[in-house]
Amino acid sequence: MNTVATIAALRDHLAQPRRAGRRIGLVPTMGAFHDGHLSLMHQARRECDIVVVSLFVNPAQFSEAGDLAAYPRNAWQDAALAERAGVDYLFVPDVAEIYPTAFATTVSVSELTEPLEGRHRGRGHFDGVTTVVAKLFNIVSPDLAYFGQKDAQQALVIRRMSEDLAFPVEIRVCPTVRDLDGLALSSRNVHLSAEERDRAAALHRALRTVRNSVREGERDPEVVRSRGLAELRDAGLEPDYLALVDPQGLEPLERLDEEFLALVAARIGTTRLIDSELIQPAAAPPPAEDAATGPHGSVASHPA
Ligand code: AMP
Repeated sequence: MNTVATIAALRDHLAQPRRAGRRIGLVPTMGAFHDGHLSLMHQARRECDIVVVSLFVNPAQFSEAGDLAAYPRNAWQDAALAERAGVDYLFVPDVAEIYPTAFATTVSVSELTEPLEGRHRGRGHFDGVTTVVAKLFNIVSPDLAYFGQKDAQQALVIRRMSEDLAFPVEIRVCPTVRDLDGLALSSRNVHLSAEERDRAAALHRALRTVRNSVREGERDPEVVRSRGLAELRDAGLEPDYLALVDPQGLEPLERLDEEFLALVAARIGTTRLIDSELIQPAAAPPPAEDAATGPHGSVASHPA
C-alpha cells in the first residue's frame, strides 16, 4: 500500500492504471477505522482493480469546533488496517492541500439537505460533505465510490450531487455494520462511557421496534413512531429526531404501506449518534422455506 499526501502524487499514481482501463474504487473516510469502514474497503477490493481510501477529517462539515477537535484520530492503526484490507492507495491530505488559502467554492445540494441532519447540524454540514466529496471525485476520478447506509441522508445527498453534476461514478451504498447488541459502529462510539455505550443500543432497538410494528401490520406512522420513541425514552434518550420518511425524497409519510426509511439521531452525554434502516412493511418470508426457494430472499438490506 502507498500512502500519498498530495493531489499531484495521487494523480500521478492513478494515471497509468486509468489509461490501462483499470477499475478504480474510492472509499472516502474520516479515519479512526472500524469494521464499518473495512466492509466498504472489502467491497471495493472485490469490485475494483485499484482501491483508493481517502482519510481526511474534513473541517468544513463540522459545525462545532469542539466536535472537530475531539474527533478520534488514529493514523498509524488506520494505515495498518487499510493495508490489511488490501487498499492500494491511502490518500491522507492535510487541510491546506484540500482547502488552500484562496479556496472559495461550495458545492451545495438543496432540498434533501434541509430536514433531519440538515436541520440539526445546519446546512453547512452537508455543504462541507458535498464540497469535499466533489473534490475527491475530481482528484481520483473513481469508477465506483463507496458509502455507508448508516449515514442514509448523506448517501442520498451524494447520489443527488453526483447525478446532478454528471460525475461519471457509480455510487455504492453498503449495509451498516453493527455490534452484537445492534449498535451501529461509529468512530464516535469511543467517546461513550460504559453506561452510555449500553444506552446507545436503544437507537437500534427503536429502529427494530419500528420495523416490527409495521411488519405486524401497523401502518400509522405516528403510532409506529411513538413505539420507537418509547424505546428511546426507556433508555433516557431524548432524540433529535426519529423520522419515518420516503426513502428517495425524505418526505414524511401518511401511511407506511411501501418501503420507507427510518432514521434516528440522539445525543448521549456529549456524543451525537445517528442510525437508520430501510424497512419493507411486507412481512419477512419464513426463513427456512425461503432460503430453499430463494425468490423472496432479498429482504435483508438494500442500499438507499
Ligand atoms: P466516516 O469516516 O464516519 O465519515 O465514514 C466513512 C464512510 O463509512 C461513510 O460512507 C459512512 O457512511 C461509512 N460508515 C460509517 N460507519 C459505518 C458502519 N457502521 N457500517 C457501514 N458503513 C459505515
